[in-house]
Amino acid sequence: MNKTDVLIIGGGPAGSACAWRLKQNGADCLVLDGQAFPRFKPCAGWVTPGLLRDLDLTPEDYPPGMVTFRQFDIALRGLRFKMRTHQHAIRRIEFDDFLLRRSGAPVIQHAVKEIRQVNGVYDVDGEYQARWLVGAGGTRCPVCRQLFDAESPRPADALVVAQEDEFYYPMRDERCRLWFLQNGLPGYAWYVPKANGWLNVGVGGMEAQLKANGDTLKRHWNLLVKQLDELGLVRGYEYRPSGHSYYLRRAGVAPSRGNALLAGDAAGLATRDMGEGIHPAVQSGLRAADAILTGGEYTLRGIQGLSLWSLLGLAA
Ligand SMILES: Cc1cc2nc3c(=O)[nH]c(=O)nc-3n(C[C@H](O)[C@H](O)[C@H](O)COP(=O)(O)OP(=O)(O)OC[C@H]3O[C@@H](n4cnc5c(N)ncnc54)[C@H](O)[C@@H]3O)c2cc1C
Repeated sequence: MNKTDVLIIGGGPAGSACAWRLKQNGADCLVLDGQAFPRFKPCAGWVTPGLLRDLDLTPEDYPPGMVTFRQFDIALRGLRFKMRTHQHAIRRIEFDDFLLRRSGAPVIQHAVKEIRQVNGVYDVDGEYQARWLVGAGGTRCPVCRQLFDAESPRPADALVVAQEDEFYYPMRDERCRLWFLQNGLPGYAWYVPKANGWLNVGVGGMEAQLKANGDTLKRHWNLLVKQLDELGLVRGYEYRPSGHSYYLRRAGVAPSRGNALLAGDAAGLATRDMGEGIHPAVQSGLRAADAILTGGEYTLRGIQGLSLWSLLGLAA
């Protein structure tokens, strides 16, 4: 039996931020993740200066390298304009591995199946025991499904579906492009250049609205591929897209039950306007750690629900 004070399920941004804060304060914790890191995670990898601040990270301190954008090229229902901004782009396969290693926490590859509570202690698969449990396992987090979903099921109208591909494509345009509400997509499509010749392209939108319109994400993916070809942005590449879904922020989420706390996508925290989930994941992971360290309340109040202010450089 492996015993620890805090067992963190999931080593993505939410789990690694929680582990980092706990280790910095001398707490005993262990991270379990079903996948071996570095692991692939479908994500455009657009990140904000606020996120880097919370992680005490600068672009110069980040060995894999990140791209900085001072402008977005936007199309809103076909209306084109440029928006001044200050944002960055990373590759999740590198970023998540970097953060998890930097946390200094022990990590074991283990896909969690069964969680039980025995005499006030959480028992995971009969192999791991802890007084505190942090559910940071993303959309399908077992902590959320087994300890929270019955009480507060996640609403279908907050579900985003997304499809993307990330690939090496050095002959490219360095500008970040976003196409909002195009061809009836209840969401947006993106073209995000990364450091060292990598590129991420994708589409994401509200699943319930797509269904209500009799539409599919696949149709929008095919339209994006066609558009990238027509604009000369990507040509002659054989796509291998991956899909994923996650929940946007909504009111009334109870992020803790007893000593079990949810962070990141497990709690459904992505911003309502842009589906930005990395920063809320890190913010909630850090807060979960603080609540455990201080015995204080674990609350999601004040965690950003919109991205617009940070895009415009107006976020605190
Ligand atoms: C296509 C796409 C594009 C996106 N683009 C952006 C973007 O540009 N910017 C942005 O901010 N957000 C973006 N998001 C959202 C962002 O990816 C998520 O909000 C973010 O990854 C949440 O982090 P997390 O740590 O909560 O979960 P995750 O990053 O999903 O990490 C969860 C971890 O838990 C592990 N796990 C799951 N189940 C188990 C189990 N049973 N046992 C053990 N381990 C388990 C997984 O292996 C995984 O490593 C995008 C999402 C998608 C799908």
